Amino acid sequence: MTDADCIFCKIVAGDIPSTKVLENDRVLAFRDLYPKAPTHVLVIPKDHYANVAELTVADPALAGELLRATAEVAASEGIDESGWRLFANTGSDGGQDVFHVHFHVAGGKPLGRMLSN
Ligand code: 5GP
Ligand code: ZN
Repeated sequence: MTDADCIFCKIVAGDIPSTKVLENDRVLAFRDLYPKAPTHVLVIPKDHYANVAELTVADPALAGELLRATAEVAASEGIDESGWRLFANTGSDGGQDVFHVHFHVAGGKPLGRMLSN
């Protein structure tokens, strides 16, 4: 379940380097290359799914594993008490740039309102 043109599949394969913060047989978490907050980690399934909708239909248990991993990352990053934000940009209006599903885990400073006008 890989896409030859996908940068996150290449990160899973080790063809593109990343700073890993959590890994198990199905899930990988690594630091965002262009962090928008003091902590900014991306949590992905090792298998390629384009977005949350595709993932949850194909493998809802894996979607649950990803969610659990986001909380584990928040704890290991030390932002579970101060608070953090979980988001998954989807499609064009959602601002999705990489079409391998990923949860953003962001925190380490007050993040402000959820959306700007
Ligand atoms: P999206 O806009 O699709 O929700 O998020 C894609 C994220 O991937 C962006 O926050 C961007 O900074 C990050 N990103 C893009 N290319 C790379 C890369 O090669 N390595 C890492 N670690 N992050 C990347
Ligand atoms: Zn991929």
